[in-house]
Amino acid sequence: MNILDKIYNLNLAISTSPTNPQELEESAIFGLEKVGSSYGQDIFGSEDVNRRYLEAIRKQGVFKATFKNIEYLVNNKTIIVGFISKGILSLLLHKVSASKINKATVAFYDHNQKKVFILLDNKTKMLLWLDTQELSLATFHELMHLFCFSNPAQYFPLFLPLLIKFYRTFFLKLTNSKLEDPELQSWISFIFRKVELLGSFERSLYIKKITELFKKNIQTEEQREFLVDNVANVAYTFAKDPNLFIKLARKGQQNIALCLTSLFDSYEELGIFKPKTIPIQELFATSEVVCITSEKPTANHYKALSMIVPIK
Ligand SMILES: [Zn+2]
Repeated sequence: MNILDKIYNLNLAISTSPTNPQELEESAIFGLEKVGSSYGQDIFGSEDVNRRYLEAIRKQGVFKATFKNIEYLVNNKTIIVGFISKGILSLLLHKVSASKINKATVAFYDHNQKKVFILLDNKTKMLLWLDTQELSLATFHELMHLFCFSNPAQYFPLFLPLLIKFYRTFFLKLTNSKLEDPELQSWISFIFRKVELLGSFERSLYIKKITELFKKNIQTEEQREFLVDNVANVAYTFAKDPNLFIKLARKGQQNIALCLTSLFDSYEELGIFKPKTIPIQELFATSEVVCITSEKPTANHYKALSMIVPIK
């Protein structure tokens, strides 16, 4: 299975808030019809749902002048807004209760279809638009993934300085070694081109790259093993079985804890104190850093939004 499918499946599983089945049934009164499907799950929506969604995020205001781009993406079905089908509800509830990490996010990016899905799982909350900020930020987050995949040539130069800052802090916190820009750029480029865009994770290649990255700093076999254990093997554990990874993380497994702490610290350095997802995707997907930092959007985040669909 493609590593990205695993990541996004996990996201989907842990990001859907528990819903009262009765509430979901009530949504039928809104005249829902199938508007798409993702990872085998049908999504039901309607023109009315789209209208309410757009109205909610327009009023919330985070998109500013780029709101018209969001409108365009909804109209051309790049953003699919809807409810999940009833059949998978119990499955999702099971997964959610198994790992209550992030019940707030209601969106995910499907890299196979290059579409953003906004799940209105908790009908009462979403249809009354009680938390439009959450809705807007979840949309912003997933659109940054979309931008990375649909505009790779623009994505990389636009966000390279941010990524360098993030990964420099990560390796500094983890190993006490300060890596130079060219080394970091080579690492980021590797993750971006050989892992993220291809969706493939090869442990041996990853270990080779990380060893190469530290060739000036690694003096002993112990140091090399430390890196392999705390980065490559942590990544591998997640890639092999995301659910097992979550379990081990919650138990405080040492290598995972060390890696996660360094990732959390790196976000703090960028002014993000409570990332909305457990940071681990960063070891496979550079765009997650861009997505998480879009909680406090910079000019470059807005620029990215406007580049997804050039509208005059
Ligand atoms: Zn993400």
